[in-house]
Amino acid sequence: MTESKKERIFCGKCKVELVLKKTDFQYMRFTFNHQVPVCPVCGQAYLSEELVNEKVKELEKNFEEK
Ligand SMILES: [Zn+2]
Repeated sequence: MTESKKERIFCGKCKVELVLKKTDFQYMRFTFNHQVPVCPVCGQAYLSEELVNEKVKELEKNFEEK
């Protein structure tokens, strides 16, 4: 059986499992569109620091190259 390992994240408020959803979100002056875990009840998106750092680095690199 090959089931891809997936992280299960739960909303701290609603105690329901977050679902992956393509979401627009803003961080500082950047806007990202990325699949992030979102609570289906309250709509809270969970952004890992890792993901944010990665995206910011990516964008800053593009910024400098222009
Ligand atoms: Zn929630």
